[in-house]
Amino acid sequence: MTETTVRRTACNLCEAICGILVTVADGPEGPTVTDIRGDEADPLSKGHICPKAVALRDLQTDPDRLRKPVRRTADGWAELEWDEAYDLVARRLTEVQAEHGTVDQLPHQLAVHLLYGHQLMVPVADIDRTSYLLMLGANPLASNGSMMTAPGFARRLKAVQARGGKVVVIDPRRTETASVADEHHFIRPGADAAFLLALLHQVLADGVPELASYVDGLEQVREAVAEWTPERAGSAVVTSAGGRAGSAGCRSSAVSCRRQRWPRRS
Ligand code: SF4
Repeated sequence: MTETTVRRTACNLCEAICGILVTVADGPEGPTVTDIRGDEADPLSKGHICPKAVALRDLQTDPDRLRKPVRRTADGWAELEWDEAYDLVARRLTEVQAEHGTVDQLPHQLAVHLLYGHQLMVPVADIDRTSYLLMLGANPLASNGSMMTAPGFARRLKAVQARGGKVVVIDPRRTETASVADEHHFIRPGADAAFLLALLHQVLADGVPELASYVDGLEQVREAVAEWTPERAGSAVVTSAGGRAGSAGCRSSAVSCRRQRWPRRS
C-alpha cells in the first residue's frame, strides 16, 4: 500500500525561501513527490509561492537533469568529478577576476564586509515597516525581493501604499514594479553612482540625522560628495519621470518625454 506524508520545507530556488508543503508517496519504487503547495503557516511567505516552486517536482524527475558536473570540450560536454569541478571553477574565477575585475554584486559584498565584518551581512529594507521605499534597478515584483527575502512582494508593496507610504523606482526600463510605483524615474544606464552621490549630497545638505557613536569619517564623505549637487546629477542621470501618480505622457515613451526632473523628497 502506498503511504503519503506531507513534509514541511522551503523552496530554495531563490532567496525568497518560500515555505512549501511537499506531499511524498512512498511506493514500491521509492518516494515520489505528488504535490507541492504554499505553506499558509510559514511566517514569512504566508502561503505565497511562484510557478517555479510548483515545477520543482518536474525538475527532480527530468530525465535530462544533470547528476554530475559537465564542462564544454572540443568534442562536446564531458562529465567531471565534483572535486575536479570545484578546482576548475575556483581557478577560473580567480583568473577572470584578475583579467576583467569584479562584476555584479561582488562590490556590494566587499562594501558590507568592510562595514559590518561579513560579506553576507547585507542590510535590507524592513519592508513591512517602511514608509518610503526607494529602489534602484530592482524589480521585486518579478524577483520576489531576491536578497530582501520578501516572498509575496506584491502584497507587501501594496501594504506600504495602503498605510500612506510611497514607492519610488529608479530604472532605465518600465518594469513591472515601476508600473505600480507611485513614481518611476528613468535613469541613464550606468549613471547610478552619480545619482547616489547626489542623493548623499542632498541628505547631508538637509542636515545630518543623529548618528550612532561608532560612525566616523563623515567629513570625508561630505568632501567626496561636495560637487555632486542634484542639479549636476539631474541632467546626467534622469531622463524622464512617470509612475502611478506621475506624468501620463512619460508612460508611453521615455524618449519623447525628456523633462529633466529630480525626485526630491516630498
Ligand atoms: S519566489 Fe518562487 S522560486 Fe523564490 S523561493 Fe518563492 S517559490 Fe521559490
